[in-house]
This record gives sequence, structure tokens and C-alpha cells, in this order.
Amino acid sequence: MSFGQSTVLGYPRIGPNRELKKAVEAYWAGRVSSEELETTAKTLRAEVWQTLRDARLDAIPSNTFSYYDQVLDTAVAVGAIPDRFERLGLSDLDTYFAMARGVDEEPALELTKWFDTNYHYLVPEIDEETIFRARPEKALREYAEAAALGITTRPVLVGPATFLLLAKGVSPFDRLGELTDAYGEILGLLADAGVEWVQLDEPAYVTDRTAGEIDALRAVYHRLAGLERRPKIFVATYFGELGDALPALLDTPIEALGLDLVAGPGNLARLTAAGPLGGKTIVAGLVDGHNIWRTDLRAAATTGATVAGLADHVAVSTSCSLLHVPVDLSVEKNLDPDLYARLAFARQKVDEVVLLGKALRDGTASLPAPLPPTPASWRNTSVRDRLAALTPADRQRGSYDERAAAQQQRLGLPDLATTTIGSFPQTAELRKARAELRTGTLDEAGYAARMRNEVEQVIRLQERLGLDVLVHGEPERNDMVQYFGDQLDGFATTHLGWVQSYGSRCVRPPIIYGDVARKAPMTVEMSAYAQSLTAKPVKGMLTGPVTILAWSFVRNDQPRADTADQVALALRNETVDLEAAGIKVIQVDEPALRETLPLRKADQKAYLDWAVGSFRLATSGVADDTQVHTHLCYSEFGEVITAIDALDADVTSIEASRSKMEVLDDLAAIGYSRGVGPGVWDIHSPRVPSQDEVVDAVRRAVSAVPARRLWVNPDCGLKTRGYAEVEASLKHLVAAAAEVRGS
Ligand code: GLN
Ligand code: ZN
Repeated sequence: MSFGQSTVLGYPRIGPNRELKKAVEAYWAGRVSSEELETTAKTLRAEVWQTLRDARLDAIPSNTFSYYDQVLDTAVAVGAIPDRFERLGLSDLDTYFAMARGVDEEPALELTKWFDTNYHYLVPEIDEETIFRARPEKALREYAEAAALGITTRPVLVGPATFLLLAKGVSPFDRLGELTDAYGEILGLLADAGVEWVQLDEPAYVTDRTAGEIDALRAVYHRLAGLERRPKIFVATYFGELGDALPALLDTPIEALGLDLVAGPGNLARLTAAGPLGGKTIVAGLVDGHNIWRTDLRAAATTGATVAGLADHVAVSTSCSLLHVPVDLSVEKNLDPDLYARLAFARQKVDEVVLLGKALRDGTASLPAPLPPTPASWRNTSVRDRLAALTPADRQRGSYDERAAAQQQRLGLPDLATTTIGSFPQTAELRKARAELRTGTLDEAGYAARMRNEVEQVIRLQERLGLDVLVHGEPERNDMVQYFGDQLDGFATTHLGWVQSYGSRCVRPPIIYGDVARKAPMTVEMSAYAQSLTAKPVKGMLTGPVTILAWSFVRNDQPRADTADQVALALRNETVDLEAAGIKVIQVDEPALRETLPLRKADQKAYLDWAVGSFRLATSGVADDTQVHTHLCYSEFGEVITAIDALDADVTSIEASRSKMEVLDDLAAIGYSRGVGPGVWDIHSPRVPSQDEVVDAVRRAVSAVPARRLWVNPDCGLKTRGYAEVEASLKHLVAAAAEVRGS
């Protein structure tokens, strides 16, 4: 059977209203049984397949449902359940959730970002004890479930090479031969069940790979495609250009190869250069699965036609799984009609794929006309003029030495100054206040009063604890990007635009659709109020331009660098206003600086240049004696480490407690010589560190960085912690700083 004309690489599994999240969390809380959970899941799966069938999609994927994560599902399908979980003796479902979330006696698998998306997968653990086995029960069950509805599907699994490249352990990739055997068995079992096509995802090959890794990929697919009893094999790749892996895969007898022609336009040239395609189907990823804009169908059809000129068979697809976009635009009732007309969520993207598939066969006559130009009201000429007039001086502060002297004179801070990263616990009362504001039981004034009350308590607590630089605690922010998006021109908020981030956690990224501008000060009133309560300096708290972009859906009609600079200009205005309101220390958080690093090394410098430039634009409008802090949520900087220096912040706080301060040596090695606050308390765990432990951490830090430049702070914000832990831990932190200072 041929592949068909149109397909998607995957579809959101959370349900139109986050039904899966609610069901899974109810199961975790013991409110519903595993049978009830499974019933909900089955209904959601059936709805997806029926939706895709009713949309007249030719080739429908299955096994894209997951209770938590598709990489974890694949680990289970190949028997890679670490012994430490197997040993717990739990049911299959609870073993699965134990790997995903941990249990009292065993921490979970590590959670890491999935390529350049905001989705997080669980990192498989492979060790000598791992014995790969074919366990494709889930894929078989879902195939049969769909078949019972009269729907033929194509089971999807992460491919063996990518699976091992993402795994951790002692040289997991050396186990590729054994793992390929297990996949061979899986393919046999799928064939026995009547499966005609299987999709194996190999996105790891759009990142830089060695010649050896590419040879190994070729060998895997020679072997799998050489099996007698197997479904037809579709190898899907996405998020970028395949490079040398493209001819390598074409070299194998697989039946279909998927290419991302949105994030990897160069795949087309590579395909053209590859020569005869040997009867393979090319699955052309023409509809962006990673962003929410409608496709320019005519342009996409032209690309599709080019591919059709090269291959015997072409199918149209999304560029990647639709997992990364919200489910359905049609439920959004409050969006500006001009914006609505330009958007496509998962359900709408399926229609686009189907239309493009038809156009390939019947010509482009029936394709809708392209959209008219964007409305003039989305443009902001004053922002554009300001951007055009920027010079390098607008991204440059005075020399660090002079700044440091001026700041010390003004702030008079001790060595080993203590501070926190910004948020204090988001309590049940705060969440209740937000809910009441939403439902109207609490008015704006009442809400503001509660927030001010919270700020006052947080300030009093910090004074009692004896911290040196205080924060207001961020009670008014449910999300560090949404909070700013809600207040800036050019941003829109959806009602149900949820996207899975990890497990049951979903986020609702704002949409940046037009020129960004600040309507009015966003944080000044709250910061000034906090400052009015104390003689100690209170940090102003902003989210940086790179992070705001990283956690939003971003317009694609201009370079991201320009959008980042527009955001930066709005933040620059805010810093200047904070300064005028008496704020002496301003922190601009950039936790996403590293996560949006391009997948290929060749693209990284250009990114870092504009990312660093935008941060500097946002932060260089203030006087020398205003101290700029930044916060980055991690400590493994790799090659990004020089960018940390280039940000030119006066103080950089980073995660360090779990990595034992090693990052300080890395910073020293590149000559970083400004303030640094390596986290001395791991806030990701509810554990309260003892004073001695914190003293140890501070001493280690002091051995790498002079005390004058060293700050003592937690790893990250405290919003997920409870007050009991926060108070006890901060007490130890302040006492530890004093102890080391005095010794
Ligand atoms: N200021 C933020 C907070 O404390 C920083 C959060 C983050 O780095 N992700 O919550
Ligand atoms: Zn952080």
C-alpha cells in the first residue's frame, strides 16, 4: 500500500481542554482508578483519530498518545526500564509514572528539553544491566484500537539511533547493534499484527553528528529494511537540516523519508543533489508544526512541486509533530479577527496538509488566495524608527570597574552579599486571589491590595532574616513571560492555547504578532511600593528579551533579532523608569538564553550575537551606579559560557549547588571578572540545607572567586517551595554567609 498523499507526524494528546492533564493528575492524587484513567485516554485517542480521518488525512499516525512522554514510551517499548524502578515491584502503569516523576526512594529519570522546543523528554538510562527486549504492547494496542474504529494507522516510535543519542549512561550509542535487534523484533511483531507502515523518528540527525554516527544510522536502516518480516519503514526527521545524514538514509532500502522543509529549507537542495531516489516516498514537511501561523499555501505548493519533480512519490506533512502547537483555533473567541485569520493551530494545520496534498495531485487552482498584508495598526512607526536609529553605543555601558566602584559607593554592600532570585512561594491564598479576580468575585482594587499585602510580608520576612538585597517576591506574576505579554502592545493571549511542556504540565505561550511597545510602566508601581517599605535595596525584576521570545509564539515575518530588540526597547524604558523611581538594583532574567541555542554549531554565533545584543540593549540605559543583575537557571553553559561574559551584567546568578560550583572554574577560565552568585541551595528539592552545608558551598565558591565579587543566593526562584522550607533555608544561608565572612 502506498504512503498516501497527506499526513501529520503527530498530534496533540492533551485533549481540547487539557482532559489528559486533569485525568492523570486525578490518578496521581488517588481520585480516579487506573481503569478510569485508561477510559479517558482511550476516548482522547479515538477523538484524535476520528478528527484526522474526518479531515480526510490519508495517513494517520498512532502511538503518538502518551501518558507522559514519547521517549519514555519508547524506552518501555525496548525494555529499557532501569532496574532501580523495576525493583519497586509496581504495576506497569505505576512503574511508568515512577520513572517519570520519581517516588520517595527513587528520583525520576532526568528531564531535558526536546531539541529547540519547549517540550521536555525523559532521558533514558542505559547501563550494562540494560537488556533490550521487544515490548511494543502499547503501539500494538493503539493500532488495534484504531483498527476497531475502522481507522488504519501508522505506529510511531522514536528511532533507535536517536533513542541512544538522547540516552545517558556509559556509551549508550555502543549498544546500537543490540538495540537494532530489538527494533527488528518489534517490526516483526507489528507486521504480524497487520501494520503496513511504521514511523521511526530520527530527529537527532538534524544536529551536528560525526561521520561514525551517520555511518551507524545507515547501518541500522540497512539492517531493519533488510528484514523479511516488517512493515514499510518511514524515517521521519524534523527541526532542521539533515546534512550528510540525508544521502546516508537515501542509501538504505527504507520506503519513505521525512524532511522538515520549514526549519530546514536546505534539505531541498540536498535532496536535489542526491540524485535518483530509488522509488522512495519523500514526506515533505511543508506545514510548520512548531509555530502557529497559517501556511502560505501557494509557496508551500511550489516547494511541494519541486520535491515531486525529484521523487516518484511525495506526501505532504507537517514539519514536525503538532504536539508543539495548541489544539484548535476555532475555540478562540476573543482574538482580533485580523490575527485569527492568520493563525492555524493543530486542527487547522491538518486541513492545510490535506489541501496541499490535493494540490500536488490536482494543481493549485483550488488553493485559497494568500492573505492580504498585515493591518497597518500592527506597525508601530515610532518603535521602528527607534530601532533603525540604534548605534553600538546603545548596547554599551561604562567600564565595569567604574560601575562597580559607583555601585559600591551607593549600595555599601558587604562581601558575600545575600539575596534571592525573585519569587517567594506562590501560596494557596495567592492562587485563590487570582482565581477570584478571574471570576469577578474580587475586583482589581481588592486584588491589588492583596498583592501589596503579600509584598509587605515578604519584605518584612527578608528584613527579619537579614538578607542584604531584597525582592518583592513576584506574587502578582503567575508566569514570568505572560505577565509582560499581557501588558505589551503586539502580544495576544489565547484562551485555550495550551501546549504540553512536560508530563501533565501545559503552558499557554503568548503570541507576538505585531510591533512590540510598552503602553505604560509595567512593574514600577509594585517595585517602588516594595522599596518604600525598607531601607535595604529592593531589586526590580524583569524578564529578558530572549526569554520572552523563547516562551512565546513569535511572528515570522521579520528576523527574530528585530523582534527581540523591540522587546528590549520596551524593557529599556522600564529599567529607566525603575531607576527614576529609586530602584538601585535591577535583575533581568534570561533563563532561556541557552535553550534557544540553534541546534547546529554553524548557526550558534549569529544567534548569540543578537541574543546578547538584545539583552545589552535592554540593560544599558541605566546609570553606572545602578546595578544590573541577570539570572540563568543552569550551570552547564558549554560553549555559551563566553556569552555570559558578553552580557556585561554586574552580577550573574546561576544554578550551582548540584554541580558543586564547577561552573566558577569555567567562568574563571574565560576571564569573567564581574559579580557572580552561584546557587548554594538546591531549590528544586524540598530539603532544607544545613548551615554547615551552605558554609561548605560558600567556602568552595570563595576558593574560586574573591569574596568581594561573590554573592550568596539560592539556585533559582522560590515560587514552588513552601514558607517553612524557605524560612529555614534562608536563615541558614544568611548565617553561612556571615560565618564565612567572619572567618
Ligand atoms: N525571577 C524569577 C523567579 O525567581 C526567575 C525564574 C527563573 O529563572 N525561571 O521566579
Ligand atoms: Zn532560575
